[in-house]
Amino acid sequence: MSELGSIRGTRRGAQEIRPLQLAVEELRRVARRYGRQSGREVAKWSVRRMKTKWGSCNRESAHVWFNLELAKKHPNCLEYIAVHEMTHLLERHHNERLPNS
Ligand SMILES: [Zn+2]
Repeated sequence: MSELGSIRGTRRGAQEIRPLQLAVEELRRVARRYGRQSGREVAKWSVRRMKTKWGSCNRESAHVWFNLELAKKHPNCLEYIAVHEMTHLLERHHNERLPNS
């Protein structure tokens, strides 16, 4: 799939594309590493504008979405959100094993 083509609800200017490409590379690296470790691979991941969440996922399709704004954050934040959303592929709800913080 084309990650840049999966962006919805945004006009892509030259200033947005560069950090987004870096973010996509980071997400791909994290997704591969944690997918191997957890045994549950992400089938598809996309970046889009979100107003209230940093990420979301669909457990059935193993599709994970990330907030476009993450591209502006430190790579550690990106990794934290990626791991959190990928953990939802294994654990549906927030609980003591998957806190919402
Ligand atoms: Zn969550």
